[in-house]
Amino acid sequence: MIATKGYAAQSPTSDLAPWNFERREVGPHDVQIEIQYCGVCHSDLHQIKDEWFPGIFPMVPGHEIVGKIIKVGDHVKKFAVGELAGVGCMVDSCGECGNCKDGLEQYCEVGNVQTYNNLGKDGLPTYGGYSNTIVVKEEFVLHVSDKLSLPAVAPLLCAGITTYSPLRFWKVGKGHKLAVLGLGGLGHMAVKWGVAFGADVTVLSTSPSKKEDAEKLGAHHFVVTTNEEQVAAVKGSFDFILDTVSAPHDFDFYLSLLKTNGIQICVGAPPEPMKINQGSLLGGRKSIAGSGIGGIAETQEMLDYCAEHNIVSDIELIDIKDIHNAYDRMVKGDVRYRFVIDIATL
Ligand SMILES: [Zn+2]
Ligand SMILES: [Zn+2]
Repeated sequence: MIATKGYAAQSPTSDLAPWNFERREVGPHDVQIEIQYCGVCHSDLHQIKDEWFPGIFPMVPGHEIVGKIIKVGDHVKKFAVGELAGVGCMVDSCGECGNCKDGLEQYCEVGNVQTYNNLGKDGLPTYGGYSNTIVVKEEFVLHVSDKLSLPAVAPLLCAGITTYSPLRFWKVGKGHKLAVLGLGGLGHMAVKWGVAFGADVTVLSTSPSKKEDAEKLGAHHFVVTTNEEQVAAVKGSFDFILDTVSAPHDFDFYLSLLKTNGIQICVGAPPEPMKINQGSLLGGRKSIAGSGIGGIAETQEMLDYCAEHNIVSDIELIDIKDIHNAYDRMVKGDVRYRFVIDIATL
């Protein structure tokens, strides 16, 4: 077994603290990565606090992982020692169902294996990227270009692919008016993709203070959703709304901003079921859709696109001992736009 240092929550009520544990040995199809950086996703906090479902403790969170390959199994073909690599939200899936065969491992019909807070096929808990090393099956490891800033690549593995995948699926681009709802970790990436794909991008926000930031990220327009005049000017105007909000919000209101046949795509997961007035949909043949992360091939496509177009996340690099302060700020929306842990501080 491989001795590993990490930061873990021992229970839903305990803070994260140093914890030593063991990873499996590198099997013939495995890649071992020395983790250099790990992004901080809001779902890390939800899971260590048991807010979604009863978790597996001790829990080592983190699913935006980048680092250097230090060992590969005998049968590994696509990776070599010394290369940069990344791991996102999944580390395994059945590989045989229709969705897996279609490259949609995130929708594996028997459930994919999540990078942490899940059981692997060996029946053992998975532990995430708040740790110094990880062993992952080759098929779930991603190539990372050395042309990009490595810490700023980390959030692409969750925030990046979660927003890239739906915009690609619905072919959002030139000639489309795209509204991005929520300017956080996911939203700031959605703005970057929308601009890169040629869409006319508007950020919808309740806080006027975010206007300057939205423009810096490349957004073409900014609408304060509490300003009646500004809202009236965009009623019925958007082809797509990419909705990244994970708190309860007024779907009827946002649907009214879509044009006929418009689609509101949800990538956030509010704790309460959504409430909508069906009239908001049928008056204009509108849709509400959802999308979850992206498959492995598409995640690689996104990383390659980033290398080619020089796109990364905007981050704040932190020491791991400052993780609780980072969580407090993340909950308040006070982060531009993703915290990334420097694993060398572990
Ligand atoms: Zn995430
Ligand atoms: Zn499957």
